[in-house]
Amino acid sequence: MDKPFEIDFPEILRKHWGFSGFLPLQREAMECVLSGRESIVILPTGGGKSLCFQAPALVMEGTAVVVSPLIALMKDQVDALAGWGIPAARIDSSLTAREKSEIFPRLRRGEIKILYLSPERLIGGGTEFLRDIPLSFIAIDEAHCISHWGHDFRPEYRQLGNLKERFPKIALHAYTATATGPVREDIARQLKLKDPEILVGSFDRPNLVYRVRRRTARLDQVRAALDRHRKESGIVYCLRRRDVDELCAALTSRGYRAVPYHAGMSDSDRKKSQEDFITEQAEIIVATIAFGMGIDKSNVRFVVHAAMPKTLEHYQQESGRAGRDGLEAECCLFYSGADFMIWKHLLGEMPPEPRRVALEKLNRMYRYCTGLSCRHKSLLNYFGQEFPQANCGACDACLGELNLLEDSLVVAQKILSCVVRLKERFGADYTALVLGGSREERILKNGHDRLTTYGILPEYSRAEIRGFIEQLADEGYLVKTGEFNVLAATESGWRVMRGEETPKLLQPPEKKPKKAAAKPARDSWEGVDTGLFEALRDLRREIAAESSVPAYIVFGDRSLRDMARLRPSTPAGFLGVSGVGEAKKDRYGDRFLELIKDYCASHGLETG
Ligand code: ADP
Ligand code: ZN
Repeated sequence: MDKPFEIDFPEILRKHWGFSGFLPLQREAMECVLSGRESIVILPTGGGKSLCFQAPALVMEGTAVVVSPLIALMKDQVDALAGWGIPAARIDSSLTAREKSEIFPRLRRGEIKILYLSPERLIGGGTEFLRDIPLSFIAIDEAHCISHWGHDFRPEYRQLGNLKERFPKIALHAYTATATGPVREDIARQLKLKDPEILVGSFDRPNLVYRVRRRTARLDQVRAALDRHRKESGIVYCLRRRDVDELCAALTSRGYRAVPYHAGMSDSDRKKSQEDFITEQAEIIVATIAFGMGIDKSNVRFVVHAAMPKTLEHYQQESGRAGRDGLEAECCLFYSGADFMIWKHLLGEMPPEPRRVALEKLNRMYRYCTGLSCRHKSLLNYFGQEFPQANCGACDACLGELNLLEDSLVVAQKILSCVVRLKERFGADYTALVLGGSREERILKNGHDRLTTYGILPEYSRAEIRGFIEQLADEGYLVKTGEFNVLAATESGWRVMRGEETPKLLQPPEKKPKKAAAKPARDSWEGVDTGLFEALRDLRREIAAESSVPAYIVFGDRSLRDMARLRPSTPAGFLGVSGVGEAKKDRYGDRFLELIKDYCASHGLETG
């Protein structure tokens, strides 16, 4: 690729953003922009897409136009850029006439490097001014919104198709976290991109720890997850508004700083909850899926699903809101068969073909929940990518937290043979009775006490045997058929009976207390003084409130941990902290350095 001029991007990242290197594909994406080669960049949430267009915009002649669908997000981005000392502005419906009139002269003077526009703005009237100012390029953020195939189609995005006619000489670049082929092709076609470079990153999120548990006691289970993250920010997703209100009240009454969020609340109440969460006045937001779009709080340390979402796409998107800063975060999912039934019931109203697709997605979601293999691998495979590692070290299965039955092959074989001996004519309850050796009259009357499989699982209660049967059905070794859910062995069930395949079965919950889920130790905490970290976090909250910007825009968690690790005492030392560039050093250096010095003096710690 021909570069029109040499740019030292690493130096730019260091100076302005305080970053010490590129994230995967960032360099390639930036070089596309610089050379004018149109591109589609597909990186997961937290993959650092913004920097791919922000850094080139800074060094190129003229103003870059960024189209973004969400006004709230645009405001945060412009605030964040200002924090890094990069002149940016936005034009959207929420600006006052006065604010707008201040922007135009700055644009004409070429002072603004990045201009955020909502799509309505760009396609609607009132953008003639764009013809009078030199543009460097146009970036389309959340570009999947242009496609019907995406999960978030927006009609106003469709009309971006005429950008090529209006700005024939300006290169377009599209950014999204949605990886599927049809969406990608649609983006290229709709925007009429010329031979675009397509950059696709890995969709794995190695910093997320995934855990899945069957829901047995919602409040207790959710609390156990929250208690692993005291004083940290996180989201708890519920299916229904009522669940949000109940769970939020239950948590609040037990001393958690939680706020609710759902579409049934008034606009002002919702806004208040969101503000409290973003400025860290509240740590926990309990929400329906109405919450999340347009929030890019980077230091969400956990996402708990108190119920199962309806597709893995939803799960990926919602859980993906954790750990955007690349530091470890936890995604905990509590599911139950009842969730599955609720979703299935709701699908009943759809026309047949979409229903078939939706049901298949729902089944895949449920299989993910009941599955006992690596979560990173399962998710990545679902999205069509390979996961190379045998053990991810960051999910319940690979961390060995699942209490698996040691003799699962034998137990499964006993159950499957019993189903076959019962000539595949009975349901789960009855089968469990036979296996447990019940003296119930109907069993004796049917002569089933004389089967060789009668009473061969005496060490388990009837409920426990039922549990195993459900697991075998979930894993596809048994199917339930007909009106009475009669059990039958499947192809893979026969393989188990022949000993060719070994299913995994979970221990019954009460047999052995589950190991407490341990927080896997990660380097990001190494050498960090946690007391100092907390003091720094308080200062961040204070500054965020003073200047009414989101806390993470002042500094990310990574920067605070670095400060509490390096404990710099001079402005030059402060620049060594990840995420501290010149502008942040000038703006916040004094206050943070003072706090670090005081804290170290009163705690007998060395400064760096
Ligand atoms: P995306 O839009 O792809 O979800 P963002 O652009 O919001 O991701 O970036 C995610 C996080 O990663 C942000 O906190 C950002 O500051 C950080 N980040 C981006 N690029 C780098 C980099 N090169 N080094 C360190 N952190 C980075
Ligand atoms: Zn794993």
